[in-house]
Amino acid sequence: MKLHTKIFIGLVGGIVAGAIFGPLSKSIAPVGTLFLNLIRMIIIPLVFSSLVVGAANIGDIRSLGRIGGKTVVFYLVTTGLAVIIGLVLANLIGPGQGLTIDVEAAQVTAREAPSVASVILGLVPTNPFQAMIEGNMLQIIVLALFLGLGITMVGKTAQVVLDFFTAFAEVMYRLTGVIMELAPYGVFALIAPVVASYGPGVVLPLFKVILAVYLGCILHWLIVYSPLVRGLGKLNPWQFFREISPAQIYAFSTCSSSGTLPISMECARKLGIPNQISSFVLPLGATVNMDGTALYQGVCALFIAQVYGLSLGLAQQLMIVLTATLASIGTAGVPGAGLIMLSMVLAGVGLPLEGIALVAGIDRILDMIRTTTNITGDLVGAVIIAESEAERSIAESPSLPR
Ligand code: ASP
Repeated sequence: MKLHTKIFIGLVGGIVAGAIFGPLSKSIAPVGTLFLNLIRMIIIPLVFSSLVVGAANIGDIRSLGRIGGKTVVFYLVTTGLAVIIGLVLANLIGPGQGLTIDVEAAQVTAREAPSVASVILGLVPTNPFQAMIEGNMLQIIVLALFLGLGITMVGKTAQVVLDFFTAFAEVMYRLTGVIMELAPYGVFALIAPVVASYGPGVVLPLFKVILAVYLGCILHWLIVYSPLVRGLGKLNPWQFFREISPAQIYAFSTCSSSGTLPISMECARKLGIPNQISSFVLPLGATVNMDGTALYQGVCALFIAQVYGLSLGLAQQLMIVLTATLASIGTAGVPGAGLIMLSMVLAGVGLPLEGIALVAGIDRILDMIRTTTNITGDLVGAVIIAESEAERSIAESPSLPR
């Protein structure tokens, strides 16, 4: 049986078991945690080595700038579109209209939102080792890109450094494959307790928020990703979604883009995306490209405004597009991070930060679909950049096979 079939069975089995056995199924939670820890163990070395190799292998600084530029533009545009879809749906569905929720009762307190300047300043690690120890992904990425750039500039003398990281990254890919064999069981053990914890009492009052976020994400797959994959990626979207399903299911059950990265890379390999591209585009995307998170932040901002009876004009909604795009970049690829960054969006348009408490109770459910969308967007990016680079190399040297 194919691995993705097994993972799917794990997911469905976990949902059924969670529904049937209820709280009893929480006893298998440690199995899920163990599996997550295995993945977490390899994330930093994987991201780091893969990005160093990715950046260095692009060859010259001009190409690095070109591919980096394309990647960033692609990520920004799709994220902006995601927020717009979220806002349109929240305007249509009106999830907060006619709703009164006891804000006092919710216990989550809003955290201070980081300013845009501090997010930008925080990109550069003053101490590379500390960045690794803290698992600060954005800083690790910056460090890896600089190292890759340095290797490219030094050239032959630095070959030994590049060889080391290439071999190291290979080892990490292989370990990923080993850990992936356990994914069906991990997914089962992760999803069952989640299903058990959310009874109808938690879900029903906020049903429309859940509906808007899920519908928005799926629409984003259908009206943004699919045409892009077909048009710019020259790939059948059906085939694309089939190949990436293990990564999607995994993201859905773990709510972590960073944690899903090893699996996304494996899926990219199956899709025939050159390692050189995926090892650059995917780790970057897992950290900065979060379409699902941005869409969710748009929906929630509008929902909170509606609950508090505030109406947001076009200018304010455009402000949400901007802040949600930025906030999603600053969101770490770990469970629940988007909820914290929501405060940045709310602060941007002057909405009460306490509103976060309203959606905190269902955050896990929203996190599942937004993380799935986040990693889907990264893989769409990889397909498109790979195709555009392949066309470029054909144009430059037509005799080379693709
Ligand atoms: N959990 C999401 C992710 O890892 C981030 C978020 O909370 O929105 O992609």
